Amino acid sequence: MVRGAVQTGPLAYEIRSFERPTVGSDEGLLRIEACGICGSDVEQYRGHLVRPGMFPLIPGHEPLGVIEEVGERAAERWGVSVGDRVAVEILRPCHSCDHCLTGRYMSCPNRDGAYGMTPLSRAPSLWGGFADYLYLHPWAILHKVSKDLPPEIAVMFNPLGAGVRWATMLGEVGLGDTVLILGPGQRGLTSVIAARARGAGTIIVTGLSRDEGKLALAREFGADHTINVEEEDVVARVTEITDGALADVVLELTPIADQPIRDAIECVRHSGRIVLAGLKGGKSVQLVTDRLINKGVTVRGAFGVNAEAYIEAIRIIESGRFPLERMASGTFELADTEAAIQALADGDAIHTCVCPDGGSALAGAVTSREEAADAG
Ligand SMILES: [Zn+2]
Ligand SMILES: [Zn+2]
Repeated sequence: MVRGAVQTGPLAYEIRSFERPTVGSDEGLLRIEACGICGSDVEQYRGHLVRPGMFPLIPGHEPLGVIEEVGERAAERWGVSVGDRVAVEILRPCHSCDHCLTGRYMSCPNRDGAYGMTPLSRAPSLWGGFADYLYLHPWAILHKVSKDLPPEIAVMFNPLGAGVRWATMLGEVGLGDTVLILGPGQRGLTSVIAARARGAGTIIVTGLSRDEGKLALAREFGADHTINVEEEDVVARVTEITDGALADVVLELTPIADQPIRDAIECVRHSGRIVLAGLKGGKSVQLVTDRLINKGVTVRGAFGVNAEAYIEAIRIIESGRFPLERMASGTFELADTEAAIQALADGDAIHTCVCPDGGSALAGAVTSREEAADAG
């Protein structure tokens, strides 16, 4: 039997058993090694981001695993064999429409939904990463990853893919650029790594007093300066650090708060670039748009991550150049999926993941439910 951590409603999880699906020529079955957790999982756990009628479902949209079974045609198309380790993208685009054919597959209107968001009622139910196995739909997108890495590190393809896309692709960070990253969460830290890998000059990261540990890690990953926004004025500090030149690129990654958007506009140089990726819960934000015009600023909205960024992220992880294990805050068993999400929601953890078979010995091995409770 196959185990899956099923979300039955807001804040409600239970372990259920499923039949192992049979695999046709165009499909596959993935044995999950690890499934990463991000802010979206926290939102989904609380009952947001999920359309009515979607419960019950198996969440988990950042899966990494080993090909357990693969049909003949699928093996050829994906270029994989049984035993290969792959990362799976969240979306299942059609690969045939104009959007897909011109590289904008994330906008595919015909897509077959998303992993971690497809209800159990749709056969074969195994549509989420918090389970022993994941069904590989013919439209799934897979990326091979080296088997030499611990699963807890390899699974960081997702947050690092975000850092790569936001900093280097949308923000176009280049050699010697000054980069300001507002927010030191999982994706702020991976943006530091991506900007560093791309040859950025000065990297500055902001955070709150409670983010002290994360800011220290940002410095370890290559940030030159960190700013505690509760003690220092961001615009004044950035002006001082850059000697008035300001930032070439600003990444705004903070959730809910709107002051960082105004700070981004003041801290970017003339003709600089701002990437917005911090969701504000749908609220409107007051801005003096004249500032954007007069500074000739390019503002880009960051929607998700694409294959180009995932491939680059996997290369960075495989290079071993950055101590990514420093981001691994906890490995949780399938039965402790809620604790894994809670640990991230509580704010101290940077990256947590669920490993159905227990994961490697990294980060103090498996965190049991009791240990997680002790850790607050
Ligand atoms: Zn995610
Ligand atoms: Zn399409």
